[in-house]
Amino acid sequence: ITSKPPLLPDWVSDDIDPKVPSIARIYDYALGGSHNFSVDRELAEKSRARWPHSLHSAWTNRAFLRRAVTFCAEQGMTQFLDIGSGIPTAGNVHEILADLGVDARVVYTDIDPIAVVMSRRILADLPWATAIRGDARNLDGLVDDPDVRQMIDFSAPVAVLLVALLHYLPDSADPRRMIAQLRDRLAPGSMIAVSHMTTDEWPAPDLAEAIEMGKRTSTPIVMRPITEISAMLEGFELVAPGLVRVPQWRPEPGDDTTASYFDTVGAVGIKPA
Ligand code: SAM
Repeated sequence: ITSKPPLLPDWVSDDIDPKVPSIARIYDYALGGSHNFSVDRELAEKSRARWPHSLHSAWTNRAFLRRAVTFCAEQGMTQFLDIGSGIPTAGNVHEILADLGVDARVVYTDIDPIAVVMSRRILADLPWATAIRGDARNLDGLVDDPDVRQMIDFSAPVAVLLVALLHYLPDSADPRRMIAQLRDRLAPGSMIAVSHMTTDEWPAPDLAEAIEMGKRTSTPIVMRPITEISAMLEGFELVAPGLVRVPQWRPEPGDDTTASYFDTVGAVGIKPA
């Protein structure tokens, strides 16, 4: 006899409400993953029916993640902290680094229990990577977590990834202050990769509708103007081309460079000495 309803897969823990859509699972669905429920798929398809490009933006964001991680590794980063890392699909940070032949340590952290369970499963045999459950709104708690500390030495440079995360943090969480707090905890030479959905260019009625749709998830979306996103990166020196729509951030041959207002804007910055 099991305490779990028999039809739920073993990666579903008791603290998950399968009736409330989760952005981690919707994003997993958009990327072709299989760790999602019908409520997630319905909301994703509703969004695609309304805005045909909306799910494609997950791919352009993921491609930005790949290029940003590659860039950080090329600059010599060997420690990566991926906050809001998501349910592992194709092209996870430790796989990008392994493909590059970089010997690095990686910590994934997410608020979503399935993201953490699935990350732990694929990392089970990798002593240099781990996943912990954590809330980006409690940044000090994350940085001081003993499991994070075991893997990451904050007295040396660290690459911190905040990719497609900040637009799930409400204004009350003050993401700008959170990034400033993070900057203060990082050693000079550390790098930050950020992508964020922006309100710029969205027709007002569509924006209101998208925000309303996002309220059905456990982490409603908060798009912000580019000026506000840019202000969050204060104190970091942005590498060229600065803060741009992610398909246009250092595209590589074969990458889709067509940008639309669904894409996040992204940048990579370095904490100066
Ligand atoms: N970073 C990955 C990427 O770009 O491919 C995944 C992005 S996914 C759109 C956003 C992730 O942020 C989800 O997995 C979600 O659970 C996570 N998230 C949302 N709010 C969070 C919070 N307060 N703390 C940590 N993770 C959070």
